[in-house]
Amino acid sequence: MAVDESMVRDIVQEIVAKMQISDSAAGMHGVFQDMNDAIAAAKEAQKKVRIMSMDQREKIITIIRRKIRENAEILARMGVDETGMGNVGDKILKHHLVADKCPGTEDIKTEAFSGDRGLTLTEMGPFGVIGAITPCTNPSETVLCNTIGMLAAGNTVVFNPHPRAIKTSIFAINLCNEASIEAGGPDNIACTCEKPTMDTSDIMMHHPDIALLSATGGPGVVTAVLQSGKRGIGAGAGNPPALVDETADVRHAAEAIVNGCTFDNNLPCIAEKEIVAVDSIADELMSYMTTEQGCYRASEEEQEALIKVCIGKNGSPNRDCVGRSAKVLLSKIGVEVPDNIRCITFFGEKENPLISTELMMPILGIVRAKDFDDAVEKAVWLEHGNRHSAHIHSRNVDHITKYARAVDTAILVKNGPSYSALGFGGEGYCTFTIASRTGEGLTSARSFTKKRRCVMVDSLCIR
Ligand code: NAD
Repeated sequence: MAVDESMVRDIVQEIVAKMQISDSAAGMHGVFQDMNDAIAAAKEAQKKVRIMSMDQREKIITIIRRKIRENAEILARMGVDETGMGNVGDKILKHHLVADKCPGTEDIKTEAFSGDRGLTLTEMGPFGVIGAITPCTNPSETVLCNTIGMLAAGNTVVFNPHPRAIKTSIFAINLCNEASIEAGGPDNIACTCEKPTMDTSDIMMHHPDIALLSATGGPGVVTAVLQSGKRGIGAGAGNPPALVDETADVRHAAEAIVNGCTFDNNLPCIAEKEIVAVDSIADELMSYMTTEQGCYRASEEEQEALIKVCIGKNGSPNRDCVGRSAKVLLSKIGVEVPDNIRCITFFGEKENPLISTELMMPILGIVRAKDFDDAVEKAVWLEHGNRHSAHIHSRNVDHITKYARAVDTAILVKNGPSYSALGFGGEGYCTFTIASRTGEGLTSARSFTKKRRCVMVDSLCIR
């Protein structure tokens, strides 16, 4: 559907302006000055959600989905404008993915055991109020996806969003509450405080009314949550390698890898961050990438310049470069390229910081491996033990199996772009919280439940 771009831009500017005028983000549901008040409001709302029928919960979720579709472009533009990262077109797709493919109440299933001694059910019950910490890389996507899953499971949620994405996150939280009110549900199913900081995060992590924590972000936040003394779901960092072996359809691999790597300017944690290619096909792969897939091959001097610009003194990616396009990154080192350049590539050693660091930029260094076993070893090293995501292009099932076992990640995409793992051009549901570190994997409503056993003795078995 054609969208009037200038109209959407005007709407976004109006929303952002309104949010700037009022310190308290007035008129937005679920937003409180004090984190303790946000938690209290979510607790009140949970008392109502707790006794709702599953149908009522699903009715709210249906309206959330509709509102996401209606506001996908506004949310996408807000995210790019506020954080300076990513691109609007891909962020629109990500919001539609959340609306269409984040599981709702259908994910909540009861197990039954029936026999001579009666009937026993294992039911998935809510935790209560969940404290969720969200990243700046997929801000509204994560808020919306978390809210759908947590509400489907009967919880309410308090967010401590990334401060760099607070307006976008508040806008998403408001949509969820408007949906609940429209469906006859309570306000404050999703809450936040208007100025999230490490202190408000700390209040949330140690508050007696927060029953479960969910952290989506880098290693620091996952460690903090796991040290809180509460149950925590930790969705942390990755550095996904894409391995290409000598049996691969090399042309297709080049296309899939560059498509995955450049999606939303490489912001998704699952996106290809570097390539390990078996030597016999490495030059062919480079050739397809540069001649057919819009990759710019950087010289050694340009790589040195990129290291200085893209990586800070502490070895972390420079925030001003994260989620920027290849064209913008190259312009920062004085190289002007046409608009069709979408990725930067080069051959390098695995220790090259442009290869070993989780940059979240469309930069794809290629590491040569002498054979498949060498490629596996290098790819496992590059994944840094995050056990998050890895990808492979191969027609050899034994190779795929060996790699899968060695890299041991929550996600392994074979012969496609990384985003297939989110249900985009691949089977399966979508999430933006991939809990590799704590083992839930791709979270969905059931991840936010606790199991409860309900036993009827010597009755209700009617076999
Ligand atoms: P970040 O770690 O800087 O911030 C994430 C969130 O954690 C923010 O809300 C931030 O304010 C908070 N935070 C950071 N350190 C904290 C601490 N010590 N205590 C409490 N809160 C803290 O990450 P980001 O730049 O927003 O996002 C990018 C990172 O997140 C990448 O490493 C990426 O791989 C990862 N990520 C992982 C997933 C996943 O599903 N596994 C999804 C998205 C992003």
